[in-house]
Order: sequence, then structure tokens, then C-alpha cells
Amino acid sequence: MREFKPLKPSVFQFSFAELTAFFEEKGMAKFRAKQLWNWLYVHGQCAFNQMSNLPGSLKVFLENNFSCETPRLAKELTSNDGTKKWLFEGPDGKRFEAVFIPERSRGTLCVSSQIGCFVGCKFCRTGSQGFERNLSADEVLGQVLFAKTLLGDWPTNPQNRKINNLVFMGMGEPLFNYENLCKAVNILTCKSGLEFSRHDITVSTSGITDKILPLARDTGVNLAVSLHAVSEEKRSVLIPINKTYKLSELFATVKKYPEMSKTDRVTFEYVMLEDINDSEDDARLFAQVIKGIRAKINLIPFNAWDGSELKSSCQEAIERFALILRKAGYICTIRNSRGQDIMAACGQLKTSKRFLKLDQLQLDSVEKAVDKSNCGRSI
Ligand code: SF4
Repeated sequence: MREFKPLKPSVFQFSFAELTAFFEEKGMAKFRAKQLWNWLYVHGQCAFNQMSNLPGSLKVFLENNFSCETPRLAKELTSNDGTKKWLFEGPDGKRFEAVFIPERSRGTLCVSSQIGCFVGCKFCRTGSQGFERNLSADEVLGQVLFAKTLLGDWPTNPQNRKINNLVFMGMGEPLFNYENLCKAVNILTCKSGLEFSRHDITVSTSGITDKILPLARDTGVNLAVSLHAVSEEKRSVLIPINKTYKLSELFATVKKYPEMSKTDRVTFEYVMLEDINDSEDDARLFAQVIKGIRAKINLIPFNAWDGSELKSSCQEAIERFALILRKAGYICTIRNSRGQDIMAACGQLKTSKRFLKLDQLQLDSVEKAVDKSNCGRSI
């Protein structure tokens, strides 16, 4: 799979163990690696020459050999409800995005794992644009570091932080960028640095079954499954990759996830599409096929985008659907859309008349930075 490599490697590419091993290999004291780690991930310091307890020779070495930059910001949009959308540009000029959603009790950051996506879900604007490349681990991590800096969320304080919920629900299929995803999670959860709890991180997948249990074993984070249909036929139309990763296999795999990852339950995400997957029969079948899985369900009203012929189910149909699932004993929530005024939903940015008034640079940026379904933004 393609992955862009900038000339000067990022210092954020190292896990703590790798950084320590690198320092040892270069004949430097191990504790220097810990000092550097502390600057990067406790204080958010991105200038080597400001790391006051490092010797001058080490600062020069780091300066000459590594970049210490988070992704370059191409554009920021802020919604009336406080939701922020950041459009980043990689060193190759390709663009990706992250969204911050402040709520009363928590702050959620939704990050991207790829630029574009080849899963091709029919309801997703990102999916309609094809795949460009994987994000590197430092680009994934860099979205979090950038957001923390912009929100004034340093030094790291696990008891009182502005971002305390991380969701891999932005552009791309995270499990198709597995190694970089795991490395980023490893750094995010490092006790000597950012110290996110594994239970505060959720990875959303369209159902790449052969990576689901490895994810449980390697990270122990929460799992969300973009389900969207409960019969093989219907799901294969909405999510073409279902022809390869069958629903039957997906349910059998997901059933083992909570125990293996020591998480409470799996979340099934389900976009509500009028006359497609929103009937009472669909709801009853839903309850039946997930029987025995420790799960909760999140129903998502579809955010229509220009060019899509799909329509969202009406509120009444969504409530009816939810009721059937609740009566079957499941926790079933209905997602509120956030950031609608900044067109935070997938693909809305590209064709919005409001955006057609922007200059071409902005428009190009926006066109390349549509996100996907979850976080209530892309579908
Ligand atoms: S919903 Fe997710 S997996 Fe599906 S096309 Fe969009 S980004 Fe890819």
C-alpha cells in the first residue's frame, strides 16, 4: 500500500521503546530519550532548541536529523455549536482532516487514518473519491498533537483535559492502515507521555475481519463497526467490501472482541436510509442477527450530499427502528448531527454553494478533505 515518506523523518515516528533503542544505538544516555519524550508528549514542545534540559549537541543532532512538526494547517472551520474542523496538508500536498466536537462532559477528536478510501461505501463522500494514500503514524498522531496545541491542552493532564475521547472515524479505513494505526495508539496510550486510556479510544471499521481480533490483542481499544445493513445482499450493495468480508464472518469475529480486548461492548453504527434499510423488518432482523453479541447501536440520520441519491429516514422511522432494538434489550442511541453550519458532513464541503464562493485554493482543499460517515459528519 502506498505511503508518502518525507525527506527528513519525523521524531513522532518513534514509539518510546524505539526512541530509547535509537538513543542507545547512537551511544547516547537512555534518560535523554525519556527527557525528549517528556518534552514532546507531556509539554507539547515542538522546537528542539527550546528543550532546556537537553545538551546543545543533542539539540543540534535532533535538528539536523528529524522534523518535529505536526501536519500543516490548510484551513480551519468553526461551527456555531463549537465544533471545529481542521484541514491539513501533508508534505506531498495531499489533504486530510480532523474534527473536534466539544460536549458538556467530554471533548471528542475524530481523526483520519488514510487520504481517501477504497472501501467505497455508497453513502460516503470519501468513498466516492477513491483512495490516495495511507497516513503515516506521525501524521495520525500529529492530528492529536495539533489539536491539543490549538486548544491549549498542554501539559498533558489525564484528569483534566480538553480532548478525552479519540475516535478513528475520519477519512479512511483504519484497519487497512493497521501498523501505523497500532503505532499511533501505542504512543497515544504511553503512560510516560500522552496517557490516553485505551477505553477512551474507538476504532471504527467497515468490517475488515482478519484485523479485528489482532486489534483487540494489540491495542485493547473500543471497536465500532460500520454496519448499515443486516443482510448479506443489502450490505454488499451499500458496502461493496462486504463481498469479501462477509457479514456472517464479521458477526462471528465481533462476538469475541469484547472479551479479548477487555472492553464492555462493540458499537454498531447504522446510517438510516429511507426505504433502503429502515423498515421494521430490518430492525427485527438486526436484533436477531446480533443476538449473543455484547453490543450497543448508534443510529445515524443520513446527511445528504450533492450527487448522492440517498435520503435520510424521517425522524419517526428512526424512532420506530430504535424502539424495536430497545425492546429487544439493546442500548440504542440516535446520533445528533454536529457542525452542520461548517458542512462537517462527508462531501458536503465539496459541492456546497457556500464553498463555491471561496477562492480556488480553498475549494481545492475542501474537495480533497471530505470525511466519512462517523462522528455524525460524513453521512
Ligand atoms: S464510510 Fe469509511 S470505510 Fe466506508 S468509504 Fe467512507 S471512509 Fe471508507
